Amino acid sequence: MTRVVILLGAPGAGKGTQAANLSTSLGLAHIATGDLFRENLKNNTVLGEKARGFMNSGRLVPDALVLEMLFDRVAQPDCKSGYLLDGFPRTLPQAVALEAALGANTDVQVLNLEVSEESILSRATGRLLCRGCTAIYHRSFRPPVTSGVCDECGGELFQREDDQEVVVRERLNVYHTETAPLVEFYSKRNLLVGVNGEQTPDRVTEVLMSALAAVNSSDNGGDK
Ligand code: ADP
Ligand code: ADP
Ligand code: ZN
Repeated sequence: MTRVVILLGAPGAGKGTQAANLSTSLGLAHIATGDLFRENLKNNTVLGEKARGFMNSGRLVPDALVLEMLFDRVAQPDCKSGYLLDGFPRTLPQAVALEAALGANTDVQVLNLEVSEESILSRATGRLLCRGCTAIYHRSFRPPVTSGVCDECGGELFQREDDQEVVVRERLNVYHTETAPLVEFYSKRNLLVGVNGEQTPDRVTEVLMSALAAVNSSDNGGDK
C-alpha cells in the first residue's frame, strides 16, 4: 500500500512548515512543487526559464509543465512507499491527473489548512527562506536566532520575489479561482479533513497527526 498525503491551503497557510514536521514524523518524502520550481530557477534550467514569469507574477505554472516535473519526481526511489504533497495539486486538471496516475493500491489522505485572509497576508509577506536549505522563517512569528542567518545551516535568508504584498494578493485571487475547488473535489470523495491553521505551528502539527491517525483507523479497521 502506497501512502499519499496531500496538504491543501492558501499561499502562506503553513503547508511547507507543516510538511517539514509531518514528513519527519511519518517517514514520507516531502514533495513541494514550489521548491522544485525554485531549484530550477536557481539552476537556470529550461524548465526554470519557462516557469519564471508565471511564478514572479503570482500566476500558476501551466499544468503540463507541473505534471511532467511532479511525476518525474515521485517516480524516484524515495517515494516508493509514499510521499507528502505540498503545493500540488493546485488545479482540478492536476487533481484529476494525479487520481488517474495513482493505482487502487494507494491510500490517499487530504488535509486542508484553514487560515484567515488576514493571517495569510501577514504570514506570506513576512516569510523568509534559506538559500542553503529548505528551512522556513518569519520576521515576527519565527525569527532566526541571528538576523538574516539560518539556524539550521548558517545559510543566508531571503524574501521570495512573489511574497511582496501585491503579488501575494494576486496569488490569493488565483487560489480562490483555481485551487479552492479542490476542497469540494476531495470532500466529495470523503478524503478531506479540514484543520484550523490559526494555532501555533506545533499545535497544528499535533492536530494534523491525529487527523491522519483517525482517518486511517476508521478506513477499514486497520486491515492494510
Ligand atoms: P506557496 O508557498 O504560496 O503555497 P509555492 O512555493 O508552493 O507557494 O509555489 C510558488 C509558485 O510556484 C506558485 O505561485 C506557482 O507559480 C508555482 N507553483 C508551485 N506549485 C504549482 C502547481 N502545483 N501548479 C502550478 N504552479 C505551481
Ligand atoms: P505555505 O507553504 O503554505 O506557503 P509556509 O509554511 O511557508 O506556508 O508559511 C508561511 C509563513 O508563515 C512562514 O513565514 C512561516 O514561518 C509562517 N507560519 C507557518 N505556520 C505558522 C503558524 N502556525 N503561525 C504563525 N506563522 C506561521
Ligand atoms: Zn538553512
